[in-house]
Amino acid sequence: RRIAEADSVAVIGLGRFGTSLALELMSSGTEVLGIDADEDIVQSLNGELTQVVRADSTRLDVLHQLAVGEFDRVVLAIGNDITASILTASLLLQLQVPVIWAKAVDEQHGAVLEQLGVHRVIYPEKDMGRRVAHLVRGAAADYLEIDRGYAIVKTVAPRHLQGITLREAAVRSTHGITVAAYRPEGGEWRNAEADTVLGEGDTVLVVGPTTKVERFAQLR
Ligand code: ADP
Repeated sequence: RRIAEADSVAVIGLGRFGTSLALELMSSGTEVLGIDADEDIVQSLNGELTQVVRADSTRLDVLHQLAVGEFDRVVLAIGNDITASILTASLLLQLQVPVIWAKAVDEQHGAVLEQLGVHRVIYPEKDMGRRVAHLVRGAAADYLEIDRGYAIVKTVAPRHLQGITLREAAVRSTHGITVAAYRPEGGEWRNAEADTVLGEGDTVLVVGPTTKVERFAQLR
């Protein structure tokens, strides 16, 4: 059965990263064709993905047979076998897949994928390492750097912001950050407005330059 339709993604390489990605896509309603060379992996994911096939992605005839070229989006999640990753990337480009995401294990691998013309190269381990470094170092409950130098942080509302409106607190001018959303203890997330009054124990989502949001997260 071919599933190369509107909202479907082919995931090549079902290691830890590829599997996690494929299952998350499935749970959000996306059809997934999973491809891996390893029989045990294919067996274990049978029934969990729309379709799982044991195949070698470095062979053009195999990709043709699986209609991989008809997918709008393909994620190449082979990392450790760099040769297989690069050969597969080259074939996906040859098949003119419109959007190819590929995982790179290091800068060198990523550079080759980019030179080939892969559209989105991702570095899951490097990015996660950097992210966790910020969590370990700072006081933030969660941290996401959107781009180098600009981040979103989840943290507890510092005491001096409680009981007055965000407008009065002038967080933009005094801290150089924007409070985007807040959540009272045990409550739901809400968008923050100028007349929002934060309470004790509220969690806030703060957006701004990395250094400023980190400094803000350290306030108590
Ligand atoms: P992770 O670090 O996310 O576990 P790996 O790079 O270790 O990622 O795993 C990649 C997966 O890709 C493995 O399950 C492996 O069997 C699969 N794989 C490697 N080469 C090929 C290939 N030529 N064709 C299909 N699958 C492959």
